[in-house]
Amino acid sequence: MDAPRKKYIIGNWKMNFTPGEASLYLNKLSTRIQPTRKVQVVLAPSIVSLQSLSLQVNRRQFKLATQNFYWRDYGAFTGEVALTQLRGFVGYAIIGHSERRYLFNETEKDIAQKVAAAIRNGITPVLCIGETALERKDGETSAAIYSQLTSGLHEVSKEDIDKVIIAYEPVWAISSNKNAKPATPIDIVEAEHFIRKHIAKLYGKEASEAISILYGGSVNKNTAAGYLEIEGIDGLLIGGASLIADQFCAIVEIAKGVKDERQY
Ligand code: PEP
Repeated sequence: MDAPRKKYIIGNWKMNFTPGEASLYLNKLSTRIQPTRKVQVVLAPSIVSLQSLSLQVNRRQFKLATQNFYWRDYGAFTGEVALTQLRGFVGYAIIGHSERRYLFNETEKDIAQKVAAAIRNGITPVLCIGETALERKDGETSAAIYSQLTSGLHEVSKEDIDKVIIAYEPVWAISSNKNAKPATPIDIVEAEHFIRKHIAKLYGKEASEAISILYGGSVNKNTAAGYLEIEGIDGLLIGGASLIADQFCAIVEIAKGVKDERQY
């Protein structure tokens, strides 16, 4: 029998914690979260902490992710960091996060190049997609998801699609946005179905059933179970609550307890 699907709990620490603080926080999490094959816990500290945390971390317990990188592998790109420099430290890369799209003007082309660079460097891309409040208001949710998914996966071949994780993060649900409100399970199921349908069109049914789709947006320990119990949702990408040990550890415990009948 195939193994049950793995749940992913990814903590995006954003621009928080000095390397010293990050080290203390990792230490705290590692005393409270026991490794399990059922749940892959991934921590995404600031780039400046990745090297030291990679020496400290127990890789059976946690994997590390980079929040950002430049897609070329080397060269004269002052101030940038390549995945060739990070790949000894991280197993995952967050790509296309709405803060990068809208605050730092990352284009669809940049995002597609980053996904390709991650695959080329043996790192799992976590491709974030999601509509803005305005797009939702104008009835353009599906169009926004369609466009971000199509362009984000533009460089990904049929052989490589199983290396990609998708995170559905409606921009209006992310806690750092004004008037943020978490998505409802109905919103998420609709988006998840739409994403799988589109992946099926691009890569076939098997790929669409196998791909992991996460939800992110104002998740906390009180709401996590409701999201993790949605069939078709394979985990959570967590911002604010990942910075609070009690919250994050409780969410990982909840993920460990969720039953998933799917075998992919
Ligand atoms: C995020 O920024 O990816 C995120 C989901 O943040 P929060 O959990 O704080 O809404």
